Amino acid sequence: MKKIAVLPGDGIGPEIVAATRTVLELKRLTADGLRLEIAEAPVGGAGYAAAGDPLPPATLELARGADAILFGAVGGPKYDALPRPKRPEQALLRLRKELGLFANLRPATLYPELAAASTLKPEVVSGMDILIVRELTGDIYFGQPRGIRTTEAGEREGFDTMRYTEGEIRRIAHTAFGAARRRAKRLCSVDKANVLETSQLWREVVTAVGREYPDVELTHMYVDNAAMQLLRAPKQFDVIVTGNMFGDILSDEASMLTGSIGMLPSASLDSRGKGLYEPIHGSAPDIAGKGVANPLATILSAAMLLRYSLGEAAAADRVERAVRKVLAQGLRTADIAAPGEAKVATSVMGAAVVAALG
Ligand code: NAD
Repeated sequence: MKKIAVLPGDGIGPEIVAATRTVLELKRLTADGLRLEIAEAPVGGAGYAAAGDPLPPATLELARGADAILFGAVGGPKYDALPRPKRPEQALLRLRKELGLFANLRPATLYPELAAASTLKPEVVSGMDILIVRELTGDIYFGQPRGIRTTEAGEREGFDTMRYTEGEIRRIAHTAFGAARRRAKRLCSVDKANVLETSQLWREVVTAVGREYPDVELTHMYVDNAAMQLLRAPKQFDVIVTGNMFGDILSDEASMLTGSIGMLPSASLDSRGKGLYEPIHGSAPDIAGKGVANPLATILSAAMLLRYSLGEAAAADRVERAVRKVLAQGLRTADIAAPGEAKVATSVMGAAVVAALG
């Protein structure tokens, strides 16, 4: 039996996670009756309120012992004044570090029914289905040395160091090729190899790893061009793999192309496929407690959990098809409703997905 740690967190977290549990707990998700051992623990502001720590030791232990983690969202105005180590978002940073979650997978999928939500023309984005694989633990965000010093001329100078070891590049490349293999088998590696030494090594290592995946078509693109191509013709991409900083920027750009923050899931994986799955949005304090939040990003995160950590690809496909079906049926939470369209509550959307699973 697989163990799932469920960490609802703050704001809309408990609402969207409750709706998602009704999907994940369905035995009929798999042909042989999916059986999961699901346990919940407080995290973020809720962790601080319960145990004085955004990531209480018992929550970390539960996450360590689980095969996968479903995470809601953390944060809220009442925690904003806490000292940094007690802030809700520390829970996520510490979980990533403690569990060695180095690969961030962010799909940017645009459902044809929601094409009008994008700021781009519907024909440019309708049917877009991109997966961005971002390295999460290295690069200029963590490289040493870094700091602010005073030069000999007496002027202050800020500096950071972009670094990647071969091993770090190799493991994210394997994750990305593996993901591409499960999709349309096209991988675009994004770098800045015309300017940066780090990127030259990145390109060399990704190319070498690619020889182990002859069934996946590998291309390379400079990051400035990738930023343009995402706006010009996003449907050309299947999977994109890139470093931490370029991935930070491109994954936000790609997700905004969909125009629907309540629809986008994500995964952060370790080298053995264990992962933390969460919607890309935050705890939405402005709508918390009203029962109106869109649970689909979290339900789609559970689909990724089934695919990447439990190896249940068929069940993941079924959940994703059920989400498409409820959109086709016209169900809309407030965030994805067009003006004048009827809006449904979080629990109604969750129940509709369960019903659409058949
Ligand atoms: P947010 O993503 O919480 O909300 C932005 C806007 O999108 C809000 O208007 C919100 O109502 C709406 N929205 C978000 N998710 C929605 C959903 N599922 N259904 C319907 N509408 C939705 O971002 P924010 O307002 O910048 O941040 C709020 C809090 O969340 C802050 O404390 C921030 O630190 C935290 N945060 C947490 C995470 C995380 O847990 N991973 C990520 C981002 C922000």
